[in-house]
Amino acid sequence: MSKVNEIFTLMCSHCGRRYDLNSKIWRCQCGKPIDVILNAKAIEFKELKDIRTWDFTMWRYVKLLPIASPDNIITLGEGWTPIIIKRLYGVEIIFKLDYLNPTGSFKDRGASCLISHLVEIGIDSIVEDSSGNAGAAIAAYSSVAGIKCKVFVPASAPEGKKLQIRSYGAELVEVPGNRAKVSEEALKESKRTYYASHMWNPFFIEGIKTISYECVEQLKGYVPDVVLVPVGSGGLLLGIYKGFKELMELGLINSVPRMIAIQAQGFTPIYDYMYGNYGGSPPNIVLADGIAIPSPPRLEQLVKVIRETKGDVIIVNNDEIIKAFKELAKLGFFVEPTSATVLAALWKGLESKLIEKGESVFLPLTGIGLKAIDKLTKISDRIFRN
Ligand SMILES: [Zn+2]
Repeated sequence: MSKVNEIFTLMCSHCGRRYDLNSKIWRCQCGKPIDVILNAKAIEFKELKDIRTWDFTMWRYVKLLPIASPDNIITLGEGWTPIIIKRLYGVEIIFKLDYLNPTGSFKDRGASCLISHLVEIGIDSIVEDSSGNAGAAIAAYSSVAGIKCKVFVPASAPEGKKLQIRSYGAELVEVPGNRAKVSEEALKESKRTYYASHMWNPFFIEGIKTISYECVEQLKGYVPDVVLVPVGSGGLLLGIYKGFKELMELGLINSVPRMIAIQAQGFTPIYDYMYGNYGGSPPNIVLADGIAIPSPPRLEQLVKVIRETKGDVIIVNNDEIIKAFKELAKLGFFVEPTSATVLAALWKGLESKLIEKGESVFLPLTGIGLKAIDKLTKISDRIFRN
């Protein structure tokens, strides 16, 4: 038996039922999401730099990723993205430039791990639903792996993202209506094909956790005080949390940062769950389309992590996003509006004292601005108005 099965197990986040790592399931029999659990005691791992120091991708941490055979790894060079530190607004900001990943977003980490796993368990055809970035990432890695891929997106998704998905050779299905309707259509299709959902599949989160490994390694063991994360389906927040948590369990760091979720006006399920209805309807043009998710399947898990780390949730609106987008661009970071929410949320967090002066704040920059050119062009008069 491969050692990977001693180190990792699949476990339900709700009822605790366990599954073999190679089970072809994407959720528990009870209907709730499953997680990959790392058994820190089963692994000999003393220093992050111990592993594949010659590998400048997220796969340098291959020992901590649930893939049995390196031959199955599907990589496009994702991960090991730069960190840029700036002292601004009285805090130390650690920007992680994840928009520099191969398809232009952090989702490549998740897609690389998930598709490698699917190669390992012999899947040759998949279906996914996405607001754009996850679809593009899954389409790219599927193409490299020779896996047939069908992606359902909202008809309102940015044209650039839709074109990108089709360019990788995936079949694109545009669904009119809201994001929930898109998932519904993909779920119907999943009765015939494997559902490679970035929202449900725990192997996607496994790839994303490498952001935290890299953060700690690049900062030479330092752990930021706070992490601000745009949350749609929540894979980014859960992945970043999991990365820090595992490093703590392995005895490499002593704390996990406070995890603060960012949501956009009109899409506030975390706030609603924690504090009651926030109210406010979605704006006419949803700038933060990457986090326009009304009911994420991992909502309970997200709230648990936020509470456990003494984090919180911050809601931002279009005006705040545009201001942050402009400020980030002035700093040289051309990111998509969803990604710009991190700076808008930092300003609000400082104002409400949720974040204190002098703290260190980790801001992942998640998606490149080029993906949202059509949307940004539509609002250019608002961007360039003084
Ligand atoms: Zn269960």
